[in-house]
Amino acid sequence: MTARIIDGKTIAADLRGRIAGEVVRLKATLTPGIAVVLVGDNPASEVYVRTKSKAVVEAGMRPFDHKLPAATSEADLLALIAKLNADANVNGILVQLPLPPQIDAYKVTAAIDPAKDVDGFHPLNVGRLSSGLPGLVPCTPLGCVLLAKTVHDSLAGLEAVVIGRSNIVGKPAAQLLLAENATVTIAHSKTRDLPGICRRADLLVAAIGKPEMVRGDWIKPGATVIDVGINRVPGEGGKSRIVGDVAFAEAAKTAGAVTPVPGGVGPMTIACLLLNTLRAACAQKGLPVPKL
Ligand code: NAP
Repeated sequence: MTARIIDGKTIAADLRGRIAGEVVRLKATLTPGIAVVLVGDNPASEVYVRTKSKAVVEAGMRPFDHKLPAATSEADLLALIAKLNADANVNGILVQLPLPPQIDAYKVTAAIDPAKDVDGFHPLNVGRLSSGLPGLVPCTPLGCVLLAKTVHDSLAGLEAVVIGRSNIVGKPAAQLLLAENATVTIAHSKTRDLPGICRRADLLVAAIGKPEMVRGDWIKPGATVIDVGINRVPGEGGKSRIVGDVAFAEAAKTAGAVTPVPGGVGPMTIACLLLNTLRAACAQKGLPVPKL
């Protein structure tokens, strides 16, 4: 079998186009605004923030970027969050993680107005997701589910295995799949017989952070594989290259459909950030939240 490649780039571009269309439609009523806050000069974070800000502008939304020095105190960051919470033009707030050691990331996340928490990390939104209530949900897991739904009309009854139980990917991915009525198993570093558990999966989500750990013979023939991993490994000529958590070439021989890395989940994360911002803005103005 040769797997269908789930083209995240194209699917994300299509979603971004629909979001931009909705922003145009709402223009007379509101222009969604998002504040992206970066503390320090972590090069990877700077790239993410630049990419996010560009996407915000392309979607017709208003960016409110804040770049703070690495020595910023927790009190100063919390004061900025309070200001953004009170600013009616700011509909979404994202604080890029990781934060410098003098700042408690949990305190900062919990200080964001849950209605503006477009990362979906606020404890209230985490609780809403696990209670099956509507709320803002984390962007990467949401992207994973939307990609899986390009393959399956319904995820109901599918045997889904999520490898990874982080608060930002694994756990919310499992909750979202449960909300879609999949039968969900969460695997992690202490799981016994991981290959055997993966072989049960109709839908396999890998969020591990270990280059190409999931091998072709871990995959049930015909399964859908969503690879969240972003791992930098040595490439040719002293350069580095990015690979996922799944051995892509092997997986493509067994799976029914598989996401590439790069070009799979990554672009969907940004599209889902825009989607969350649009949804948050509409909810704050009392407008119907677009389905898209
Ligand atoms: P994380 O916080 O390090 O969590 C990794 C998870 O994988 C943990 O739950 C860990 O288990 C599990 N794990 C580690 N080694 C394992 C093993 N040998 N067998 C089974 N499970 C194992 O990472 P994360 O933040 O969730 O990110 C995961 C990957 O996704 C990374 O490559 C990251 O760069 C990528 N990512 C991509 C996007 C995107 O937009 N595409 C967004 C976010 C993250 P324990 O809990 O037992 O330690």
